[in-house]
Amino acid sequence: MALLDGTKALVSGVANKKSIAWGIAQALYAHGCQIAFTCHPTNLRRLRKLAPQVDSEIIISCDVGQDEEIIRAFDQVGTVFDGKLDILVHSIAYANIDDLGGEFIKTSRAGWNLALDISAYSLVAFTRCARPLMNAARGGSIMTLTFGSGRVHPGYNIMGVAKAALEMTVRYLAYDLGPENIRVNAIESGPIQTISSQAIEGLTFGLRAMDERSPLLRNITLEDIGKTAVYLASEFSLAVTGAVIKVDSGINTMCPATVPHRKLKRTRDA
Ligand code: NAD
Repeated sequence: MALLDGTKALVSGVANKKSIAWGIAQALYAHGCQIAFTCHPTNLRRLRKLAPQVDSEIIISCDVGQDEEIIRAFDQVGTVFDGKLDILVHSIAYANIDDLGGEFIKTSRAGWNLALDISAYSLVAFTRCARPLMNAARGGSIMTLTFGSGRVHPGYNIMGVAKAALEMTVRYLAYDLGPENIRVNAIESGPIQTISSQAIEGLTFGLRAMDERSPLLRNITLEDIGKTAVYLASEFSLAVTGAVIKVDSGINTMCPATVPHRKLKRTRDA
């Protein structure tokens, strides 16, 4: 019997096959989970092509900036999943391109509100709608994706602030819903090349740093994140909530001013 046999997941945030959410959907499916998707309306066509790979036909359009769209989407999820949901994957972020790069001090009020609304508040709205479905399933696992909120990453700017809000949101939601056996966690991924991350100034430098300076001397793959998602979705993490799990080849343990890894040359030459 597979680890997630009999479970039902809602996965949000697939834009294409490079999306972290797609890596998670594949991993959940591989362990026996039944998947439904929500996606931004602009991604419907691409997702319709991908979803059959995980035996899913359940694709619901949902712009998370609109409360009524979120409520309608979860109503549909309830209908197709017989009123129950075990796993919710929130893999969504957005900021104006002008607010990613340059001086952070130039962030406008509108840009701030947009980034925090889509990237952090949406987790609150999603969780509120998932709650009755997870109560019906006698508990559940909610997970979101974050990146380096504790430090300044030049160019990440408003998204760093949004991720700090998201991580605190995870802790408050975990506190609210713990008594209902609903767990809420975040996966802090190292940099991965996706449509969204390509907009971030310094991405190439980040990818190279992982390769040259992290203890594992390698970048993160969709499979790495997918496997952590399976852990968070499964009974192996039943006492884990409010956590931010770093999946970053250990780079967070290094001094920021670190030199390239001493084994780098030997590994490359081998
Ligand atoms: P991606 O572009 O594939 O996914 C981002 C998703 O957010 C897209 O599907 C997009 O349509 C969706 N989205 C944006 N605005 C939306 C809205 N209003 N309504 C509904 N959906 C909306 O990029 P990704 O890198 O897979 O990002 C997924 C998550 O992972 C994000 O939260 C991102 O911040 C986080 N993350 C990414 C990295 C990385 O290096 N790629 C690292 C750590 C964390």
